[in-house]
Parts: sequence; C-alpha cells; structure tokens
Amino acid sequence: MINITLPDGTVKEYPKGTTAMQVAEGISSGLARNVLAAEIDGEVWDATRSINTDVSLRLLTWNDDNGKMAMWHSSAHLMAEAIEALYPGVKLAIGPPIENGFYYDIDFGDHNFSSDHFPKVEKKMTELARQKNCFERIEISKTDAISYFQEKEDEYKLELLEGLTDGEITFYKQGEFTDLCRGPHIPNTGFIKAIKLLTTAGAYWRGDEKNKQLTRIYGITFPKNKELTQYLEMLEEAKKRDHRKLGKEMELFTFSQKVGQGLPLWLPKGAALRERLEGFLKKAQMISGYEPVITPHIAHKDLYVCSGHYEKYGEDSFQPIKTPNEGEEFFLKPMNCPHHCEIYKSKPRSYKDLPVRYAEFGTVYRYEQSGELHGLTRVRGFTQDDAHLFVRPDQVEDEFEKVIDLVLYVFKALGFEEFTAQISLRDKENREKYIGTDENWELAENAIINSSAKKGLVTVIEYGEAAFYGPKLDFMVKDALGRTWQLGTIQVDYNLPERFELEYTGSDNKKHRPVMIHRAPFGSLERFVAVLLEHCGGNFPLWLTPDQVCILPISDKYMDYSKEVLNSLKISDIRAEIDERGEKTGRKIRDAEVRKIPFMLIVGEREAAEGKVSVRRHGGEDLGSMSLEDFKTLTHKEITENIDEFVV
Ligand SMILES: [Zn+2]
Ligand SMILES: [Zn+2]
Repeated sequence: MINITLPDGTVKEYPKGTTAMQVAEGISSGLARNVLAAEIDGEVWDATRSINTDVSLRLLTWNDDNGKMAMWHSSAHLMAEAIEALYPGVKLAIGPPIENGFYYDIDFGDHNFSSDHFPKVEKKMTELARQKNCFERIEISKTDAISYFQEKEDEYKLELLEGLTDGEITFYKQGEFTDLCRGPHIPNTGFIKAIKLLTTAGAYWRGDEKNKQLTRIYGITFPKNKELTQYLEMLEEAKKRDHRKLGKEMELFTFSQKVGQGLPLWLPKGAALRERLEGFLKKAQMISGYEPVITPHIAHKDLYVCSGHYEKYGEDSFQPIKTPNEGEEFFLKPMNCPHHCEIYKSKPRSYKDLPVRYAEFGTVYRYEQSGELHGLTRVRGFTQDDAHLFVRPDQVEDEFEKVIDLVLYVFKALGFEEFTAQISLRDKENREKYIGTDENWELAENAIINSSAKKGLVTVIEYGEAAFYGPKLDFMVKDALGRTWQLGTIQVDYNLPERFELEYTGSDNKKHRPVMIHRAPFGSLERFVAVLLEHCGGNFPLWLTPDQVCILPISDKYMDYSKEVLNSLKISDIRAEIDERGEKTGRKIRDAEVRKIPFMLIVGEREAAEGKVSVRRHGGEDLGSMSLEDFKTLTHKEITENIDEFVV
C-alpha cells in the first residue's frame, strides 16, 4: 500500500500502482470526467500513470494552467495524427503547447499545405477525438527509439534524440500515432471536444535561418464548444482593437521602411498623448522625491565593459559605432542604468543623502530579429519610464512600498483594474548562483514580500526566477479581453553597485555599498501605449485622449460661432477641433466615431442663436443641448474623476 496526501492535507491509503484518475473516481465520477492530468510531488504527470510511492497529489482540470497545457499538448499530437493520416510521408519536428493553444512544426515534403486545408484537418481531428483513444506512455531505449524514427525517415526526431539520455526517453502513442515525447498527456482524445486551427506560418527548424523552413500550424482546443465560441468572439474583438489598426485610424504613430523596421515614428497626436503620459508620471515622481536626469543616447565602450553588458554584445546586436580615432568604440544605449551609476558617483554620498532617486524617460536601442518585431509591443528603439533608486539596505522595504504605490496609482488612472504581481526569488537550492550577500538577499526578499502584502497585492511567488543580481516584482495586468500583459517592474540589484564601486559613508564613518533598485511603472511608453490602446479599444480616459471634443457645424454658416466655441474651449484647457469639411453631419459623426473622439458638439442655427451646443457622446448617447459653460463643467468633472493627485 502507498499513502497519498491530498491538497487539503488528508492522507489516504491506496494499493501500489494506483493512478490519479482512480483517486479522482474514488472522490466522484463528475470530478473524474474533468481530470486532465495530475501534479505528483509538484511534477505534472499523466492522470493514468501508476503511482508506486508515497506522494502528495493534486488533480488538474481545465481550471489549472497545467491542465490546459496537458490538453493543448495532447491536441498537438492529435493534429499530427490527423495530418499524418491525410498527408502520408510528412515529417514532424516539434509540437508544444503555448499560452493560447498549441502548434506543430511540420515538413510537408511534396505536399502543398495552406490554411484552405484547415477544415479537412479539423474534421479528421474531430473524428479521431471521438474514438477516445488513450494516450499511452511507453518507456523506450535510445537504440529502439532511433531505429523507429530511422524507419520513418524523420531526421528531425532523430536530431532531437541525439540530445536525449538513454533511460529517460519516452514515446506517447494514441490510436495509430506515436511521437517522441516527454508528456504529460490527458487520459484520452475524447476530452478534446472543440477544435479550431488558427493560422500557419513559416518556421525554421531550431529557429535557425540556415535550416529548412517548416510549416508551423497553430491551433486551439477546448473541452466544451461554448468555450471555443467565446474564444473566437474574443479574437474577433481583439482584431478590432489591434493597436496597429487603431494607431493608424487615430493617427498616433506610423512606421517607415526608410527609417527602419521597429523604429516607431510618433505623429503629432501620438506625441502629444505620450507627453501627457510623461507629464502625469513626472508629476507623481516629483511628489515622491525623484530627481530628473538626462543622459546621452550613446556611451563609450568602457561604460559597458564596467557594467558587464559589453560581454553580452554579440553579432546579433547593434554593432559598435566607430570614430576617426583608431580603436575607439561607442555603443547605442541598451539601458540607462550604467549612466545613472556614473551620476551617482559624481560626488561623495553620506548615509543621510540616501535614498537618491534618479528618473529619466530614457530611450534605449536593442536589436530584435525582424520576425520578432510587432507594432509597438516589440520594437528596436523605445523609451523607458526608467528610474534608479540608490538606497541603504534598511531602506529597501520602504522604497518598495513607495514604488508599489506609484504603480497602483498609474494603473488606477489608466483603468487597469485587474492585475497580479509576480515575486521572483532565489532558487533556494542553488544560492551560490547569485551575487550579493545572503544577509542582503534575505532583507530584500522579505522587503518585497512584506511590502506587497502590506499593499494588498495578489502575488505569486516564483522561486528560481530572480536574476543573478537580485529579486524582483513584476506586475501583470489583465486587459478588457482577459489577456495578460506584463507591464511595470521593480528590481533589486546588487551587481551594478559592486561593478561601479558605488559607495556611501555610513553613520559609522565607514564606506558601504548602496543597493540599487530599477523600476519602470509603464515598462516602456511604446509597449504601454499599445497595451492601453487594446485595453480600452482606443477609448482613452478623457484626460489622456488626443482630441476631447470635435465641433461639427451643420453648415458653413455656423463656422464663426464654431470658432468662438473652439477658442472658449481652448482657453479652458479642453482639447478641441472643428470638422470644417463640407461633408454631411452624419458623415462627420461617423468619422469622429472612428477617431474615438469622446464628445461631438453639433452646432446649427438654434445653438448659434442661443449660445449653446448640442452634445453627443462617442457611442451615440445624446446629452441634448446645453450652455457652453455647462459643457465645460461636465468635461472638467470627468477629466479629474479618475486622476486625483498622487499623495505620498
Ligand atoms: Zn508531445
Ligand atoms: Zn535599470
């Protein structure tokens, strides 16, 4: 007999060889119908795998990320099975689960394949899923595994096998299909109820452009049809909210091949929006005791030799800038921290001077592969809302709390209501991997945990996710469509103070090292604007939005009065413009809708005579006719509503 400990702490005795599925069946048949996999002593297993020792067990369903992963990984196998049946002789490379669904990279050989074939593959997958074929785990020797794939002439699996150790190799088999795979998988294909293939793309074997290009097919599956329908609706909505599309319609930013890929050009309305975001954060930072600094876009090689970044520059980064002086090299700034360290060093510091907080909207350049570039979310030049705090070890907790306050203020003002925070700590087993004293690490790790708890953050602790130079706290926001984005980050650093030999004189009159904290509530302005655009579908909060008001005269006769209205609004700090085109009012309204302008003021004979405006909200709500003063009051109230002053 073996003892199995359940998540609630109860320990039950089972015969040796019991499976997680049998444990589930013992609890209820309803539960068993939903069990996709199991966590055995923290490791994800097939629910059908025999358990032979005392373990702790957690059953995984669709509600668990690892349950979804098992489902989607199994779906990749199901798709491979269908494709192998429909296109004999195809070769299979890799097929992992991803954040939303799965993909498989396939060498179709002489077969033609395009998304037109999706329905055929989906039909075959559905047919195979209904057979409820079990996923069978087979332990196999390396020699036998090699001869299996030699016979199949699948050079990709053979290459993967080269990197595997004999004795640790497993196959998974369902129906007529066998794959080299570590697992885990769902009990049988019948759990896959709704199937949708999404897109295809070219993908180089092992991501290397020198290798053959394979066909990557992305798909997603669900345990219920209803969930697939909801997901597809969400995708449809996401398409409408794509920041690249909205950015164009709202004239916020553009790209030019001549300027270069991944280098956004901010148009006047986008630039003004960015400045408002900067101004908003600068004000809060000023209240929090930050001091603005400005540093150049390039720096001498020596700076990056000192910071350690130099070693990381390879052939796949931006290359050094040469000067007429033999051997002299400069680099485009990939991060602002080394510059700020030098500012800290510009004069002696005492313990009473700390914390020192330097803030800079610093533009940095990083070379991303062209295939990785995506709108404003992956670019080659971007501006971080960066700041570096130089603090005493005993000040870390206090500073963390203050930075969390600032991040929460930003989220609230911009309408991100749902977010979680991930705390990344050391791998407890491998403490030697990290730089900095044990004592300081303890202090910083506890500081992050305590300050997060004090601020009521919902946190997940990840051991082993800390950087070698310090622990960190990352904020993940959920947008209006339920997608998760990583935005702000706060990071402790013991490395750079060491490398730059930063010091302060303590109350003991001795020299001490400050701790450095890197933080960026937005992350980068580019990425933040992209996420915000998709989150609010272009309907920015009123204080931030490019044009708050569009005045629509119903004919040229009312142009003079429209100009009076415009001037009056401008004097009151309301951003407005007149649609002077000779178009019909209906057309003007439609265009203002596309540009997401929150208020339209329709001006005709009656309004001009009475000194009023007819107010229409974006989306169609008619607020009726009102005096210009009343409209201003209404607008000012809404502007200040979600942007109260930041208080420390
Ligand atoms: Zn697999
Ligand atoms: Zn930094």
